[in-house]
Amino acid sequence: MDTVDKATRSKIMSKVGQKATGPETKLRKALFARGFRYRLNVKKLPGSPDIVLPKYKAAIFVHGCFWHRHEGCKYATMPKSRVEFWTEKFEANVERDRRNVEKLLEMGWRVLVVWECALKTKDVSELEATVDEAERWILSDEEYGEIPSKKRN
Ligand SMILES: [Zn+2]
Repeated sequence: MDTVDKATRSKIMSKVGQKATGPETKLRKALFARGFRYRLNVKKLPGSPDIVLPKYKAAIFVHGCFWHRHEGCKYATMPKSRVEFWTEKFEANVERDRRNVEKLLEMGWRVLVVWECALKTKDVSELEATVDEAERWILSDEEYGEIPSKKRN
């Protein structure tokens, strides 16, 4: 692992710990409750999407705003030290994401990116609004979508 400062390391570790109970789990449980059935972490597909709904040809990524650089989001902060290192790392992440979306679309999948900040909220009605939006997108024929959508940011 690259040498990182303490604050960054604990940030990374907390992200890892979130995996099982974090935003992605919130979203898929909510979708399940609404009757959607899916597969998880489909490794065969580019970028191994977090939630895949074959019936709707839909691949969903739940992206952490920090790692995947949610534009204009308060969680997409820049670490104060080793700025060059992080800039390169972030650019590589964004580029990888872009390529994965492109490949999935070429393969005939539809792609939805749900940003973590849309799921982080403790406000139940806000969370429901996010799930509503996800449901609307799943049932639509839109090829690509993001929640929150860029204009809302
Ligand atoms: Zn965000």
